[in-house]
Amino acid sequence: METATQTKYYSLPELHYGYGDLAPFMSEEQLKIHHTKHHNAYITGGNALLEKMDKARKDGTDFDVKATLKELSWNAGGNVMHNLFWGNLTPMATTTEKPTGMIAEILNQEFGSYERFRSEFTKAALSVEGSGWAALTFCRMTQRPIIMQVEKHSNNMYPMFGIMMVLDMFEHAYYIDYKNDKAAYVENFWKYINWETVNKRLERILAK
Ligand code: MN
Repeated sequence: METATQTKYYSLPELHYGYGDLAPFMSEEQLKIHHTKHHNAYITGGNALLEKMDKARKDGTDFDVKATLKELSWNAGGNVMHNLFWGNLTPMATTTEKPTGMIAEILNQEFGSYERFRSEFTKAALSVEGSGWAALTFCRMTQRPIIMQVEKHSNNMYPMFGIMMVLDMFEHAYYIDYKNDKAAYVENFWKYINWETVNKRLERILAK
């Protein structure tokens, strides 16, 4: 039987599509490396820190709290963001060109049109300083969808805003397929969005 401690660590999620299914947005080689090497590094890195803290507490020894928490934030944040990212992607054949349902309505209300939202989100993605993410969030206090530009995995985040969709703007997400042409990477992203997942995330945020 699985014990409680076995589940108190991170594990790499399975993707809901094959490694070759997101081409040409992401080639099989690019997606496989991204998932099994880059994403997985946050899992092993985060777990190593949890184990280090577990051991220090058990042994009654000290550890560098400041450095450990900073590293844990990097790894845990990286894992969460990648989970969100894989979930809001889908093979092109199964998606729609434009959003549908409630997300389509709230984007139209806030931005005036889907095209305007797309343009602002693209600018957010392309202007992230260093490595980071563009994210579509929802602010329950104002009932507005708000774009979030994240540096690293968690700098500039709005606390408690629900995340509906993210786009990985780390170089490791596109270097094999696009080299330095990140604009082409972002342009292709729009054809592989799982709007059903985005709508489900919105529903969950609104139900809270
Ligand atoms: Mn990544």
